[in-house]
Amino acid sequence: MKTPIPDYLNEVLDSLRADTSGNTAQYIPELAQANPDLFALSVTTATGSTYSAGDHLTEFSIQSISKPFAYAAAIMDRGLERVLQSVGVEASGEAFNELSLEDGTHRPKNPMINAGAITTHGLLVSQTASAESRVSRVLELFSHLAGRELRIDEKVYASEIQTADHNLATAHMLRSYGIIDADAHEVVSGYTRQCSILVTVEDLSLMSATLANGGIQPRTRERVLTEDVARQVMSVMAVAGMYDGAGDWLTRVGIPAKSGVAGGLVGVLPDQVGIGAFSPRLDAHGNSQRSGRVFERLSTDMGLHLFAPSSGQLDVVDVRQEATHEVFTLQGNVQFMAAAELLDLMAASTSRTAVLLDISRVYSFTSVARRMALEGLRRLRLDSRRVILNDPLQVLANPDLGDGSYPESPADEHHEV
Ligand code: GLU
Repeated sequence: MKTPIPDYLNEVLDSLRADTSGNTAQYIPELAQANPDLFALSVTTATGSTYSAGDHLTEFSIQSISKPFAYAAAIMDRGLERVLQSVGVEASGEAFNELSLEDGTHRPKNPMINAGAITTHGLLVSQTASAESRVSRVLELFSHLAGRELRIDEKVYASEIQTADHNLATAHMLRSYGIIDADAHEVVSGYTRQCSILVTVEDLSLMSATLANGGIQPRTRERVLTEDVARQVMSVMAVAGMYDGAGDWLTRVGIPAKSGVAGGLVGVLPDQVGIGAFSPRLDAHGNSQRSGRVFERLSTDMGLHLFAPSSGQLDVVDVRQEATHEVFTLQGNVQFMAAAELLDLMAASTSRTAVLLDISRVYSFTSVARRMALEGLRRLRLDSRRVILNDPLQVLANPDLGDGSYPESPADEHHEV
C-alpha cells in the first residue's frame, strides 16, 4: 500500500495552479526575476514523516521566514528578558517594513517586522559579537533545524543590499533611539545575509516541525531549541507572523505562520505538523498568494486550525470499584484536563479499599499532569489508603510521591498474596 498523503498534496497544488494573481517581489531585482510558476508544498509531522509535492527540491531564499528562527537564536544567546528589553511581542497591525515602534520605549513592536528583525539580528551571540559570527550563528542554527547544511545565496544578498535603503534607514533610526548598539550597516548587511539563506519547502517543514515537536528535530532527534523557546517563537508567529493580516489569518486559517518575500510560507501546529509552501507571486500584504491558499485548504480539509476543538477523545478517565480495589484508569496522552478530572474522581471517592491507578494504556503525561497524578496518590495515602500504580511502560518514570516514598506496584502485591 502507498500512503495517499502525497497524492492529496499534489491535488491541492493542482487545484490552485490557475491562480496567477499577484507579482514577484519587485523591490529586490533578483527576486523580481524568479520563475513565478514554481509551486511546492511539504508537510512534516512532529514524529518526523515528510510528505512533499510539486517543486519541492527547488531552493529559494528564506527571507522573512528567517525572522522567527533568528529570534529563537537571540533568546538562546541573550535570554528572553534581554531580548524583550529591545523587541516587543505585540501585533503591529502595519506593513512589514513600517518602523512600528512602541511609544515611550521605542522598541520595535515585534520581531517579525523588519525593525524588530534587524534589532534581533543585532542581539545575536553576545554584545561584542562580530558581524561574521552573527551570520554564522543563524546559518548554523538553521542547518540544525533543517537537518542538513544550508548555504547563503550571495547573488540574492548582493542584489538586495544594493537596494536596502529602507532597511538601512530603519537601522539608523533604531540606533538613534539606542535600540541597536552595533554599526547600522553591519547589522543590515548581516540581516540581509540571514534573509539570503537558501531553503526548500522540505527544509521549512522540518524547521517548523522542530518547533511543533517542542524543539527536538524530529528526524535527527537533536534537541535544537528548548521547549520554552519553541513556545515563545510559535506564540509570536501567531500574533504577528502575517503582519497586518495577522488577525484575519489566525481566525480564518488558524495556523501560526511566517511568510517571506521570495514566496515561501512556513506554518506550525504544536504537537502536530510543520508545513512549508512556496509560490513566488505575492499578494498586496507581501505574502505568497498561492501558498496562502494552500494553507487555507489544508486548514479546512484536514481540520488543522489551532482552535479547532479536537473531535477525537485524546484521553479517557474512569473509576470503578472492585472487591479489594478502587481502580482509577487513565488512557491516552494525559494533559492538565484529564489530570484535573482524575483528581476530581479521587476527591469524590468514599471507598476505603486500596487504590489502584492503572496507567498501562497511557502514552505520555505532560509534566504538570504527572505531578498532579502523583499528588493525588500521595493524598489518598495520607487518607490511610494503600496506593498501587500499574505502569508497565514506566511512563511516569520515577514515581516519587513527593516525600521520597513510592506507590506499590501490582507485582509487590502479587508476592504478598
Ligand atoms: N529581506 C526582506 C526585507 O528585509 C525580507 C522581507 C520579507 O520577506 O517579508 O525587506
